[in-house]
Amino acid sequence: MAILTYHHIGECPDGQEASRSLWVGRELFRAHLQWLSNYGWKGVTLDNIFDGITGQRPLPRRWVAITFDDGFRDNYLYAMPVLRDCGFPATVFMITGKLQNGDPGGNWDDYVSADEVLEMRSSGIEIGSHTRTHPRLTSMDNNGVRAELVSSRDNLLAITGEVPRWLSYPYGNFSPRIAEIARQVGYSGAVSTIRGNRVTLPQLFWMPRVMIMGDTKPRQLDYKLSWLYHVTHALKNRQRWVSLRKA
Ligand SMILES: [Zn+2]
Repeated sequence: MAILTYHHIGECPDGQEASRSLWVGRELFRAHLQWLSNYGWKGVTLDNIFDGITGQRPLPRRWVAITFDDGFRDNYLYAMPVLRDCGFPATVFMITGKLQNGDPGGNWDDYVSADEVLEMRSSGIEIGSHTRTHPRLTSMDNNGVRAELVSSRDNLLAITGEVPRWLSYPYGNFSPRIAEIARQVGYSGAVSTIRGNRVTLPQLFWMPRVMIMGDTKPRQLDYKLSWLYHVTHALKNRQRWVSLRKA
């Protein structure tokens, strides 16, 4: 079981070498999904995970959730068709201040448009918030944090007609204070960048994820989804988990 984190799907353009590791090629992405299918992993949404860990509806034995941070247009152009072909749902976290109605086709730094958000939503992709301006939330006061979380929520509501349930903290930067504000303004939970591949109820507002990079080979998913990965990262992160449990 795991929530996987992707960013870009496609070839890293010239001049963007600094972020090369965030670019997963289209064929590699397809190979990841095919590997998951072949080994019996079932795609789920964060809604499904919520239902599973709150005991409302059991999750498949081998579940995996695919998430994308930032809402780059390549998610719409390249990831969505592959997800559809392979029968996997996904969650895309939008920086709502970057949503635009730019040129179709776009280039590397384009973000999806409101129309594309809607189309993704109708193809079974969950739309979540990645805030309005992608700030480091822990360096803001409560009013500032609330404004980021409320305005991005309202913006997505206006586009899709649904209140977004899920939040992804920019840079994985959060604290129990930020999580509490997210809860107060109505999010059901949030994903973090803490590494791990199990999700429990107390982790609902800092769900761990597994980072997928441009050089992640399909067979490496075997380790990333394993018990060994879980134990290794649970040990590495134990101080963090202890401090969050106390909060
Ligand atoms: Zn981000």
